[in-house]
Amino acid sequence: MIKESLEEVRENIRQACRRAGRDPKEVTLIAVSKTKPVPMLREAYEAGARDFGENKVQELAAKKPELPDDIRWHMIGHLQRNKVHQVIGKAVLIHSVDSLRLAEQIEADAARKGLDVDILLEVNVAREESKFGFFLEETEEAARTISAFPHVHIKGLMTIAPFVENPEENREIFKKLYQFAVDIGRKNIDNVTMDVLSMGMTGDYQVAVEEGATMVRVGTGIFGAR
Ligand SMILES: *Cc1c(COP(=O)(O)O)cnc(C)c1O
Repeated sequence: MIKESLEEVRENIRQACRRAGRDPKEVTLIAVSKTKPVPMLREAYEAGARDFGENKVQELAAKKPELPDDIRWHMIGHLQRNKVHQVIGKAVLIHSVDSLRLAEQIEADAARKGLDVDILLEVNVAREESKFGFFLEETEEAARTISAFPHVHIKGLMTIAPFVENPEENREIFKKLYQFAVDIGRKNIDNVTMDVLSMGMTGDYQVAVEEGATMVRVGTGIFGAR
């Protein structure tokens, strides 16, 4: 069942790419496995999934040793500063850097461990009160500040779009973040690239791909309801 769901999501991504004139190789599907047990992740792995997303440090740390080494783990949830040290060296990418203080903590822990950490800045494009992340107008300044951190490397942006019935309602949000990433990328800030755009979830990933997402985070659509 997970195999069929994965295939369906992959096919939807291919079709969205076709509609947008994009190469499907530009889009990484992250299987969001939070709350799901290890055997379900193994099933996804056997069906070819190699990128998994978790939103809790403890859960990521517990699942990782149970599964093959070639899995790329993505930290996608709000991260508390006192948990940062547990995720460094385990996640290939932290999508959810939502404050300067968090970035400073990552720099401090990464320096201590002598590791480099790739991150995305989380942007609250829709300015929802319930969401974490920088507002668009704060993001460039944050990127410039973090660009000076020697162990932290900004690879792009992430957003969690509002929960909507019709994914078309989020198209403008995805367009806005894409354009913003292009604009920041053109400024050639040292130690900052805008190659990754992490946007789109089960309800709206096809629209996100049409609007330029390079990573989509799909949980329910692969593993079923939580
Ligand atoms: C849970 C979660 C997802 C996946 O949500 P689905 O709607 O189940 O696809 C994606 N991104 C983040 C940050 C999440 O916390």
